[in-house]
Amino acid sequence: MLSKVLIANRGEIALRILRACKELGIATVAVYSEADRDQPYLALADQTVCIGPSPADKSYLNMTALLSAASITGAEAIHPGYGFLSENAAFAARIEEAGLTFIGPRAETIRLMGDKISAKKAMQEAGVPCIPDSGGALPNSAKETTTIAARLGYPVIIKAALGGGGRGMRVVYRPEELQEAINLTRKEAKLAFGDDTLYMEKYLQHPRHIEYQVLGDGQGHAIHLGERDCSMQRRNQKMVEESPAPHLPEEQKREMGTIVAEACIRIGYRGAGTFEFLYENNEFHFIEMNTRLQVEHPVTEFVTGVDLVRWQLLIASGSLLTLDQSMIQQQGHAIECRINAEDPDTFFPSPGRVNRFHSPGGPGIRVDSYLDNDCLVPPQYDSLVAKVIAYGHDRDRSLARMKTALQEMKIEGIKTNIPLQQRILSDPGYLEGGMDIHYLEQMLKL
Ligand code: ADP
Repeated sequence: MLSKVLIANRGEIALRILRACKELGIATVAVYSEADRDQPYLALADQTVCIGPSPADKSYLNMTALLSAASITGAEAIHPGYGFLSENAAFAARIEEAGLTFIGPRAETIRLMGDKISAKKAMQEAGVPCIPDSGGALPNSAKETTTIAARLGYPVIIKAALGGGGRGMRVVYRPEELQEAINLTRKEAKLAFGDDTLYMEKYLQHPRHIEYQVLGDGQGHAIHLGERDCSMQRRNQKMVEESPAPHLPEEQKREMGTIVAEACIRIGYRGAGTFEFLYENNEFHFIEMNTRLQVEHPVTEFVTGVDLVRWQLLIASGSLLTLDQSMIQQQGHAIECRINAEDPDTFFPSPGRVNRFHSPGGPGIRVDSYLDNDCLVPPQYDSLVAKVIAYGHDRDRSLARMKTALQEMKIEGIKTNIPLQQRILSDPGYLEGGMDIHYLEQMLKL
């Protein structure tokens, strides 16, 4: 077992990892930027290290500072959480070169999946159904790209091979817009990702976002933990997630689960990961793999009873994955609402001091949050301040519990999106389930 882990992250996920380490008797090192100096969760760690000034590129994204912090505290392993450096192959490689353990997949797996062209190729070879695409990088010739788009059929989407965070992509509805869109996306991709390799995919107009959680030990064994529906999104940001996904045929769900678990075995996948799919006309289409823990992992933990962070730590310690697919059952239903520090009407960030925090409770309620009475939500980072996860033996029960929990929850001093979440929870389309990824934005326009 690992003896000491450095947590290269902040906020709710730092606390989540800290708790999992404590449970396993692993000592913890929490790092913080100057903006996070007084965060209450830091007191729960065995050691804390300031890694730099408030801007993320000077602290949470500063590999040298993080490696030095690990070295001076004698941490053996680094958990990256999500966001920041969690999908950075160079960071994983530097950690391993320093003789430490990166809690996640091997650097080459992160690199393979970080390039969407190579990721899709690997997945196609593993039998995972993918969206029809250009079959590799887009050529420079306008004639050739016109032919590719005509073959796929409009609308198409132009995407940066190294894109992420919803950036570096553009939808094209008509042939006369194609070349301009390619040129613009190339420029953006070069600026944002330092590489202008693009590819083209058929654009699906009404898909749902369905993703599969996987765990692999990198030693020949991998399982899936069922799917999540994350279709409730605004500007490609997920707002509400749930597991299981409503109205999906059991047989088809099982088949896709088997395919992704086998794909993990094939690429020797180590740790927790997620296969993201667009689901349209009763078909799954792979879009990308996230080689890390996700914000929405708790809904899967509720319905499967598996502690994903504990397993990340065990696998990083060299343990074999002793969970077998037959041991994984989806039981009941879980919903997660992301609580952001933002104006519920304008979506403007609303950082500041929280004077009072009251966390909801009761049966089937889990709250993952770094908030406390009199704590600070700094303006420099993501606006996520809490996740409320509600579990019940069916979807109606988990919805009812979520509604009660959001009524009980008090976050005073800053604005939050709780009123918006309450609106979603009583929306007829949401209640029916199975809406597409554009549904929430349309609902907000009404
Ligand atoms: P990122 O890594 O930036 O998150 P993804 O490839 O996961 O990029 O795509 C982000 C989102 O963009 C998807 O969740 C979906 O909403 C939309 N999208 C991407 N590809 C397509 C496509 N071929 N058809 C329709 N929507 C797409």
